[in-house]
Amino acid sequence: MRAMLFDAPGRPLRPAEVAEPKPEPGQLLIEVAACGVCRTDLHLVDGELSAGHTPLILGHQIVGTVAGSHRRVGVPWLGWTCGHCEFCRSGRENLCDRARFTGRDIDGGFAEFTVADERFCFDLPPGYADVQAAPLLCAGLIGYRALRLSGDPARLGLYGFGAAAHIVCQVAVAEGRRVFGFTRPDDSAAQALARELGAEWTGDSMGPAPEPLDAAIIFAPAGELVPAALRNTAKGGVVVCAGIHMSDIPAFPYRDLWEERTLRSVANLTRADRQALLALAPTVPIETHVQRYPLEQLGRALDDLRAGEVRGAAVVDVKAAS
Ligand SMILES: [Zn+2]
Ligand SMILES: [Zn+2]
Repeated sequence: MRAMLFDAPGRPLRPAEVAEPKPEPGQLLIEVAACGVCRTDLHLVDGELSAGHTPLILGHQIVGTVAGSHRRVGVPWLGWTCGHCEFCRSGRENLCDRARFTGRDIDGGFAEFTVADERFCFDLPPGYADVQAAPLLCAGLIGYRALRLSGDPARLGLYGFGAAAHIVCQVAVAEGRRVFGFTRPDDSAAQALARELGAEWTGDSMGPAPEPLDAAIIFAPAGELVPAALRNTAKGGVVVCAGIHMSDIPAFPYRDLWEERTLRSVANLTRADRQALLALAPTVPIETHVQRYPLEQLGRALDDLRAGEVRGAAVVDVKAAS
């Protein structure tokens, strides 16, 4: 089968012909149709996160069909959990001590076939084409979990308006929240997308909000946004860091946290998050904006993501000719 292989940080991804994976008991063999590109893939390629093995097939927003059937399934980042640790037993499988992640510990979806533990695969809402559904599987899920952990904000700031923010913005607006989009000051394309999706204000992520926020979610991997977001947050407000990696957070005065502001992160996802989001998606309805790339152009997709040149979400269309 055709696959894109990751060998080591700093090396270009390599197109290769490799053997089709063989499903073990409890696993499905899946013919991949589309796989979303996530900033986590970029962190792995850039060496900010370590790969479980190499060569590795990245990709953890997989849409495909079970080989030999017409059953369409999605495969997310959370690929396996132990089921026994204190986190698994308390409804927090996203924090499982022994969790294995798709596209990091388990070969992922930037290939014609993949295998996945059936318990972590799920059916997708029928109204979404394969390429449109893919960004729901990580960008959508992480954004949704971050929104639920932000409390019940009337005024919500979104820092970094990429794949995750463009989905969570639609959910938040549908829930009657007022959304404020913070981007790099020169990113007029992201600001235009934010306003198109219902944000009432957009502006510079290092600058002041037009009024205090009840919560802010930071998707961009830049630590300097943490004190900037806290300064824009009202008393009792929440700042959620939604990325798996962030540059160091600079020191800030205690008064920016004082008055019961909360600073927290969100890690991974649970199967309950996924059920909730996928039930919600068609009712909003969430519409994903995607930039498509053929499989062999995955490197270009990652370069575009690094440069901030993706409008909405980047998705590899595995069926497209290169
Ligand atoms: Zn992801
Ligand atoms: Zn566990």
